[in-house]
Amino acid sequence: MAGKSPATNKITVSEAGKEIDRRLDQHDKYEFGGPFGVTCIMLGFPALMYYLWICLWFYDGQLVYPKSFADVNLFLAEMWAHVCEGASPSLYAWKVYGGNIIFQLFLAWVMPGYRQEGLPVPSLNYKTLIYNCNALYSLYATMITAAVLHCTNIFRLTEILDNFGHLMSVAMICGFATSFGVYFWAIATGSQIRMSGNFIYDVFMGAILNPRIGPIDLKMWAEVRIPWVIVFFLSVSGGCKQYETLGYVTPNMAFMILATWLYLNACAKAEECIPQTWDMYHEKWGFMVIFWNFAGVPFSYIYSIVYMARQDPSKYQFSTPTYVLLYTTLLAAYYIWDCSMSQKSRFKMQTQGLTNFRKTFPQVPWCIIENPTYIQTAHGNRLLTSGWWAYSRKPNYVADWIMSFCWGAVIGTATPIPYFYSVFFIVVLVHRVSRDFERCSVKYGKDWDRYCEVVPYKFIPGVF
Ligand code: NDP
Repeated sequence: MAGKSPATNKITVSEAGKEIDRRLDQHDKYEFGGPFGVTCIMLGFPALMYYLWICLWFYDGQLVYPKSFADVNLFLAEMWAHVCEGASPSLYAWKVYGGNIIFQLFLAWVMPGYRQEGLPVPSLNYKTLIYNCNALYSLYATMITAAVLHCTNIFRLTEILDNFGHLMSVAMICGFATSFGVYFWAIATGSQIRMSGNFIYDVFMGAILNPRIGPIDLKMWAEVRIPWVIVFFLSVSGGCKQYETLGYVTPNMAFMILATWLYLNACAKAEECIPQTWDMYHEKWGFMVIFWNFAGVPFSYIYSIVYMARQDPSKYQFSTPTYVLLYTTLLAAYYIWDCSMSQKSRFKMQTQGLTNFRKTFPQVPWCIIENPTYIQTAHGNRLLTSGWWAYSRKPNYVADWIMSFCWGAVIGTATPIPYFYSVFFIVVLVHRVSRDFERCSVKYGKDWDRYCEVVPYKFIPGVF
């Protein structure tokens, strides 16, 4: 059945829908190549992050490799020496990284917030959890605190980039320790779901769906308050560094400060929309999410900043029209991303009977659809077919990927390393789409097929 407004009459999940949800909450097959695949990911990603950082830090962004098989041992010894020299988990790095974690936890605990009801959780008998969304006030408090620390010389923000390698190692250790710790916590409290029974696979995928301490939902807290805060302050650190050494901030660095602030601010200002995302209601809190939030995102998405902070601006200077194109592309992609995410999340809220929406800065035009069209599924849920969602089944992914590409393109062709984010991200998004569509196809059956007929394109309308 296709529907048109009002979307505000509350949905109820049918008995058949509940049966399907129960099935989807069971482990049925291994993903990511099973235990072997996830072990490779757990070992391979940290190694790759060290390698890319070494190339940027010690070799001016050039990809280094052994010239012959006989050189491999020497090459590995050199790599290890670089790690020992520039990426030891120093006490200072523990203080900086740990200080930020504790400060962000403290803010999440005490700052006033907007109370948002999450989606009904099948494994909790369709109970909804309450989220105290105070990321925005926490962000403002963090920005003010950072400015005070910098201006009073208590903690110069340039220190963040200067200690990049050391901080990255500490972040990785925290990512591993938290992943294993949370796994054992889930088992000890009996809060595990969708378990495979294979230890390493379950540590990777996670055991617990909604980890909470007091009023804090740890999964949502870690998704917003750690990676994007660090990414933004690394950009600010790069800006401060250029200002101190060059006397000005390049348009490229200013671009990254703007880009990372837009992303961080979007996550904070629309925090109440995050409970409606796949990460919150489906993905468990395991290594895949934890490591990526603690270490992967903050230390592998902004290689362009590391490059710019250590190289002469002549290596990455563009003409004025190129800067205009770069900034325009970023802002256009941001608009589509913010708007499409808001349209879907608010549509989902409407179907829960929520009609009062939070107004934070900036509210982009067309972010709430009046009289949306949708497909009413037999499951009970509705699939939006209006707004950006009329053109493609993943408009948000396309826009997000374009932003990631801009984060690399900001240094042009000076080094390939900052393109790591967009290359990695396209693999993540394509894999995520296949997992998501497979799940939706099981969940909605024929209604999903009908939705795919109404919205035939996965990504770019008219293309694919
Ligand atoms: P989506 O926001 O696309 O959510 C997918 C879910 O939404 C589906 O499982 C389905 O769930 C529901 N859905 C899909 N289509 C519709 C529709 N037309 N109407 C109503 N509900 C629909 O994806 P994610 O949660 O994966 O991503 C959210 C954002 O996070 C994206 O912008 C993504 O790019 C970003 N992201 C960023 C990462 C990064 O490292 N930078 C990593 C991962 C994500 P159901 O029907 O069961 O409710």
